[in-house]
Order: sequence, then C-alpha cells, then structure tokens
Amino acid sequence: MYSSTGELTMPKYFVNEDLCLNKETEHHLKTVLRVKVGERVILCDGKNFDYHMKVSSTHPLKFELQNKVECITEPLREITLYQALPKSDKFEWITQKAVELGVYEIVPIVTEHCDVKPNLNKLSRYQKIAEAAAGQSLRGIIPRIHAPITFNEAIQTSRASGGDILVAHEKAKLNLYRINTSLANKIGLWIGPEGGFSQKEISIMEQEGFKTVSLGPRILRTETAAIASIAIIQAAVIK
Ligand code: SAH
Repeated sequence: MYSSTGELTMPKYFVNEDLCLNKETEHHLKTVLRVKVGERVILCDGKNFDYHMKVSSTHPLKFELQNKVECITEPLREITLYQALPKSDKFEWITQKAVELGVYEIVPIVTEHCDVKPNLNKLSRYQKIAEAAAGQSLRGIIPRIHAPITFNEAIQTSRASGGDILVAHEKAKLNLYRINTSLANKIGLWIGPEGGFSQKEISIMEQEGFKTVSLGPRILRTETAAIASIAIIQAAVIK
C-alpha cells in the first residue's frame, strides 16, 4: 500500500483484544494481499492502540509483535452524524467518506421527508464499510453505525449527549464558518434527506436550542452536505 508521498504504508486491520484476526481479515491477508514472511502490518484494538507486527509464518498466519504505539489519528472533535436516510446506496457512500474524515459515530434517522424505509438487514454491511474505511484511513477506532431511529427518538438522544448540536439547513441565517472555531469538541450534526427537513421539524429543533447553520447560498445534495460539514468542522481544529 502506498501513501500520498509514495512511501510504503503498512496495511491496518482491526482485531479483538487478544489480537486475533477475524476470518475475513485472515482471508484478505492471505489470499488478497498474499503477505510474505517478514512483511509488516498494523493490528489495531479499536481502542486507540496500534500493534506493529511482522509476519513470522503464513501457513498458519502468525505474527511477531514489534511495537505497541498509541494511535494519534483520532480527531479532537467528536462528531455524531445524525443522517436522514437517503435514497439508493448513498448511505454507504456517506458512511465511507464520513469515517475517513473522522466522524465518531453515525445515527441514521427517519424524518418526515425520507423516501426510504429503514432496513435493519443493511446494518452489518454499513458497519463493515465503516471498519474498512477506518482501516484504510488509519483510524484508532471503528466508528459505530447505529440502527435507524425516528426523528423524535433522535431529538432525545441528541439532547442527552450534550455538546453543540448543529442542524444543516439551507434557509439558516447563521453560516457554519462563522461559529466553527468556537464550537465544543462534542458535536451533534444533523443532515436532512433529499427533500430537506420539514418546517415542523426545523421548529422543533429550534425550540430544543439546536443551532441551524447554513453551508452557503447553494443547495447541496444530502451526501454533499454531510461530507462538506464534517470536513469544515474538522478543519477548524489542528487535529
Ligand atoms: N429542501 C431542499 C433541499 C434539501 S438538501 C429542497 O428539496 O429543495 C438536503 C439536506 O442537505 C438539507 O436538509 C440540509 O440538511 C443540507 N443542505 C443542503 N444545502 C444546504 C445549505 N446550503 N446549507 C445548509 N444545509 C444544506
């Protein structure tokens, strides 16, 4: 695997506490990457610790521990993305990109103008996408993808989590850029579906004290709004 600077980077995989690989990861290392004795991989416990390993045998696949290091890639800002369920496979795309950009967790929500029904069978697929994106982007945790909840449930969850709660709304007067540097490190970010939030939903969120924020005068697609917001929020802090 090559980094943007052309240097070889070690592939990274998430493992359980005993540093045991799951079947899929083992298969990937053996038959897709075809690792050889002496090659190095990073195994991460998902709790911000990386184990730098050297392959000592391929059949069976075994490693030697070289180094245990604290992972330094987790962002300072902990963003929970409340994403209204979009159409087709957009949620998968949003999950992948949001994880790369450092989102802490994603809560799919069903709002008034959502055109799709929540499908619990897709949850494990979303979680796998999050895991692969977390490995690829060298995260220290695997962001959790929650089961979809209703708008009302999300209001309560978001309120209980504290921090600053932002609602991306195309008609908001306050621009996200204006308040970005003064936000708390814990942020709830709400993104509406293709049809936007209803006026009633916006009023409820405003009554709750959530801040409606604009991303500029152009109307973005829901997936663009999600990814742009996360990038903007993360860009305000060094890490
Ligand atoms: N209601 C609109 C657009 C919805 S866009 C319509 O149908 O014409 C989908 C979601 O992306 C919105 O609910 C909002 O959360 C976000 N969004 C899109 N453009 C935005 C902007 N300029 N500022 C803030 N949020 C925006």
